[in-house]
Amino acid sequence: MKKDKSEAVSCRLMVVGAGMAGTAAALFAARRGIATVQAGLTGETLYASGLFDLYGVTHDSTRVLIDEPFLALKRLKQNVPDHPFSRLSIRQIRSAFELLTRFLGEAGHPYAGYPDKNARLITSVGTIKRTFRVPTTMWAGVRALEEKAPCLIVDVRGLRGFSALQIVDTLKPAWPALAAASIDMRQENRLGPKYAEHIARGMEVEAARRELAESIRPHIYQAKYVGIPAILGIHDTKGVHRDLQQMIGRPVFEIPTMPPAVSGIRLKETFDRRMPQLGVKCYYHHRVYSINRQTDGRFAIELGKTEPETTVTADCVLLATGRFLGKGLVAQRQGIREALMDLPVCQPHDRSCWHREQFLDPRGHAINLAGIEVDDRFRPLNQDGRVVYDNLYAAGSILAHQDWIRTKSGTGLAVATAYGAVEAIDRSLACSQR
Ligand SMILES: Cc1cc2nc3c(=O)[nH]c(=O)nc-3n(C[C@H](O)[C@H](O)[C@H](O)COP(=O)(O)OP(=O)(O)OC[C@H]3O[C@@H](n4cnc5c(N)ncnc54)[C@H](O)[C@@H]3O)c2cc1C
Repeated sequence: MKKDKSEAVSCRLMVVGAGMAGTAAALFAARRGIATVQAGLTGETLYASGLFDLYGVTHDSTRVLIDEPFLALKRLKQNVPDHPFSRLSIRQIRSAFELLTRFLGEAGHPYAGYPDKNARLITSVGTIKRTFRVPTTMWAGVRALEEKAPCLIVDVRGLRGFSALQIVDTLKPAWPALAAASIDMRQENRLGPKYAEHIARGMEVEAARRELAESIRPHIYQAKYVGIPAILGIHDTKGVHRDLQQMIGRPVFEIPTMPPAVSGIRLKETFDRRMPQLGVKCYYHHRVYSINRQTDGRFAIELGKTEPETTVTADCVLLATGRFLGKGLVAQRQGIREALMDLPVCQPHDRSCWHREQFLDPRGHAINLAGIEVDDRFRPLNQDGRVVYDNLYAAGSILAHQDWIRTKSGTGLAVATAYGAVEAIDRSLACSQR
């Protein structure tokens, strides 16, 4: 038997989605004093590396690696006007990152980066990645790589997916002053594989960090820096990092591990904890079952954990339900569908055009550019190019004409488009109040 709907909630903005785009949108809206409700299932944030990419590889088939993202974004705007980034000014993109990283800094997870440049840092497989903002626990790794300074990379025996030797072997030709060491951790002496999350949670206890420091110290020799997998706590990462550096007497940097990475868990837990404190009414781990526009122009949104339990009515809706992974889009025999409102999806005209023959074709695959077409205010458009509803918005990876995986722009695209959409929502709500 169906339960009676137990709750009715009214708000100005309903954000659907709990990934990076939805969470950033709820944050930006709360900062503007907009009464906001956010609902979503667990986002892909849990799987993220914690690095905030903006624009790391060019959108075209030349696939040039980008050091100066804002210059490259200006060129993108000239060459690809449909790209969601092209609907934003550099000011908006900067403000989005500034607000997000300030929020995280205040929550105890500070980020670092150059004002205009991408930083380079090493990954757990020994490749070099360009990204825009880096957790401060990883920043010494950017400096170490720049200086090619003597550096020790340490792994923990039993921790899967992270081999100091592999990193050093891959990077040594370009960085000869690298050395590798493996350590055991008695605190984590269970049999079988070790998990970064367990070790990280253990690190919040002082004895565990002391043990880690003591295991690393005999391997240091001439090393000026020490790199370790991202295991330095979940909640008090700043304190764990500071302590470990003091104990070791060298700058220490974390290297992101394979997903689900500790750095993604830190982000997710920070958002889960802090967003309600900003005044956002959060329905995390809730599915949105339907969104219907009422005769008065407001939306009625039904959501719940296993069945519709709550109805939210909202002046505006922002759809941040992601692409295929987030399940905002579904691929079917007949084509690609938007899952919640059946909005028109910009997509190749038939399935045979979804993919190119070669998986690694430098031009990418047409299916990865599919998504929701929007206007300059991030309102979805129908096939005639008209706004579907003047109070419906979309942001993040669900948007058409971008391939964030190829262009290394996951977080950048999510937060910048969320910022653009919330700015437009704020203007429209202010007008409707007059
Ligand atoms: C493995 C992995 C590694 C990554 N690494 C990086 C990185 O190194 N750097 C970087 O910048 N970015 C990275 N990203 C990208 C980034 O984390 C985001 O996935 C991306 O920016 C897209 O965000 P989004 O919010 O648009 O979509 P998603 O993250 O897909 O979020 C969509 C949200 O909508 C929810 N949703 C969908 N339908 C419903 C419904 N009916 N009811 C309720 N909720 C619903 C989903 O559950 C999810 O919460 C990575 C992503 C993955 C998956």
